[in-house]
Amino acid sequence: MRYEVSSQYAARRRVLAAACANCRLRIVSALGDFLSRTGSLAVLSGAGVSTGSGIPDYRDRSGDWKHAKPIEYGPFISSEATRRRYWARSYVGWQRFSAARPNAAHAALAALDDAGMIDTLITQNVDRLHQRAGSRNVIDLHGDLGKVRCLDCNSVFSRAGYQRQLKRVNADWHAEVFRIRPDGDAELADGTHEGFTVADCFHCGGMVKPDVVMFGESVPRDRVDEASAAVDRADALMVVGSSLMVFSGYRFARQASASGKPIVIVNDGRTRADDLATLKLEGDCADVLSDALDQMPTRSRRPNFCRGISS
Ligand SMILES: [Zn+2]
Repeated sequence: MRYEVSSQYAARRRVLAAACANCRLRIVSALGDFLSRTGSLAVLSGAGVSTGSGIPDYRDRSGDWKHAKPIEYGPFISSEATRRRYWARSYVGWQRFSAARPNAAHAALAALDDAGMIDTLITQNVDRLHQRAGSRNVIDLHGDLGKVRCLDCNSVFSRAGYQRQLKRVNADWHAEVFRIRPDGDAELADGTHEGFTVADCFHCGGMVKPDVVMFGESVPRDRVDEASAAVDRADALMVVGSSLMVFSGYRFARQASASGKPIVIVNDGRTRADDLATLKLEGDCADVLSDALDQMPTRSRRPNFCRGISS
């Protein structure tokens, strides 16, 4: 495991920029020190937190797309063929996605929560793994893939129940899967989805959509306001496992910076807010956070492993 100090941080804290045998320890200590000195944190988490749970992320270390862009809101709403393609892929991807368990990064953030250091955790992830790890005050900025919403009658169903319905109406359908994609998506062989049947709303027969903010769709205003208020309340912002390439998350880094709050970023690769960061640590967020917790003798707490944390 190797941590890198960003040039931004190196420029501000020259003592840590020099390569030395204790560099890693000192960098982690700096994060532990930052956390220890901070009264309360707003945390903004992204896909990098869940990669350790087997859920792929969208971006590479440069912040560029790793895969073809996901299906967007506009085509989903306007095209029956696109919806069929979406749900066929989701039907396959859900089996893996729904089996994911929290990893050490989720556990470390839950431990910080237990230690009373986190006011609110704002996540761009739709997997609810923070809640399963024990984090309490979580805002699911982009929604919850575990739910399905009817766009006609606004009923909300569990995704697990909808999956059973999809299974019933597609008993004879089989897919050749190439690879698992982010957010419960799966890449299938060309044309596979054409034989797939999309189940309608259980109540009204209307069009259903995953209860998440799709690409090309806006985050509901009240949710943005709630997250924005959390950033205002906190003494500092910590960004974990996100490149912040999507504006819905980046806006909170801008907000914190504009109000003079310190920003610490832990991410394996470049982020859009690197130039706003007080402290930037590059590396696996589970490793960095876990090691930083170990450097905080008075405030660190071990996670509650009865909640089903996988290492
Ligand atoms: Zn309905």
